[in-house]
Amino acid sequence: MKVPFVDLTEQHREIRDEIDAVIREIIDQSRFVGGPHVETFERDFAAYCGTRYAVACKSGTDALKLALMAVGVGRGEEVITVPHTFIATVEAITSVGAHPVFVDIDKATYQMSPDRVAEFLEGECRVEKDGRVVNKNSERPVVALLPVHLYGLPSDMQPLLALADRFGLKVIEDAAQAHGASYQLDGEAKRTGTFGQVGAFSFYPGKNLGALGEGGAVVTDEEDRDQRMRLWRDHGQSEKYVHVSADGWNMRLDTLQCAVLSLKLKRLDEWNGKRRQAAQWYRERLQNDDRIVLPVEPSGRKHVYHLFIVRVPNRHQVREELSKQGIGVGLHYPISLHLQKAYQHLGYKPGDLPASEAVAESILSLPMFPHLTEEQVDYVCHSLTAALP
Ligand SMILES: *Cc1c(COP(=O)(O)O)cnc(C)c1O
Repeated sequence: MKVPFVDLTEQHREIRDEIDAVIREIIDQSRFVGGPHVETFERDFAAYCGTRYAVACKSGTDALKLALMAVGVGRGEEVITVPHTFIATVEAITSVGAHPVFVDIDKATYQMSPDRVAEFLEGECRVEKDGRVVNKNSERPVVALLPVHLYGLPSDMQPLLALADRFGLKVIEDAAQAHGASYQLDGEAKRTGTFGQVGAFSFYPGKNLGALGEGGAVVTDEEDRDQRMRLWRDHGQSEKYVHVSADGWNMRLDTLQCAVLSLKLKRLDEWNGKRRQAAQWYRERLQNDDRIVLPVEPSGRKHVYHLFIVRVPNRHQVREELSKQGIGVGLHYPISLHLQKAYQHLGYKPGDLPASEAVAESILSLPMFPHLTEEQVDYVCHSLTAALP
């Protein structure tokens, strides 16, 4: 048996007729940029998340950049984030001229640790008379918190929001892996991307909501931020050839992508449900094996399993063995960002962020996608337990 790491063919087979019809319609009209399909998708995605606005753009990386600009993060300022994430989180920070400050993750949930954030703010920063927070090591202002809802599990937002509030920090969420995940705040389940001022999403094909190519979006409740992001993504134009902002790019998302995303958005809850079912099958088969650390789902948080992560001994050997058995496995991510060559100028060294380092060294991503079958999960679990030392 072969079990690919991700297989999107079933997902597309399921809605193929609808996709074909909408592609045909768009080609018949031959309008490929802007138009009602973009507006409809933005309205539907905002409604799905529970925000007033959504701005569709070219990628999740662009979404993060727009989000940082929308809260006013600028040159020379610092943004607190985690090193255990995809590099785009940090690229967005440096792309606006700001500097990342890495705090360690919680070793059980793999998400930003509120305790480590508190330690950094209380121990390594001072609060000026005007309320500004300054990093004592770099003398730079610390202005924002950027948690990543990694793997589809929401970060622990209640204490993070309390810290942001106490220190006057903006909150930008990287929700690129967590479309439809939710977290209980004050007794109400809220979807990821809606806790801070802005939330960024990616529609890369393999994400829980994926385009037929690249795509992204930012959600927000504030009209002013929504309007500015719309300007920036479209050459700073307020109307055709009237440019009111020197900051401007072409970050628009195609009509076709928006039309397909609208079709898939209708299935997102169902497909997330299938991912959760597959996760449950994994759990039933692996939970009694004490060589394997399974993902946690703390109460009050709904995991949407963008990825199903296990921690195992002898990770490389196990991975090789599973590959030989025809099973696709991934590493998300094998090198903690603070130890990447790209960021060596930041001055971190091995041992500085021990939870992120330990997790990066022992994780393995098992096959996970909505149409994974119980038979396939069975085969993966059987092969995994046989491959473990
Ligand atoms: C995918 C991803 C991004 C970037 O999204 P793109 O659409 O690939 O630019 C950012 N952050 C995280 C955590 C991601 O998984």
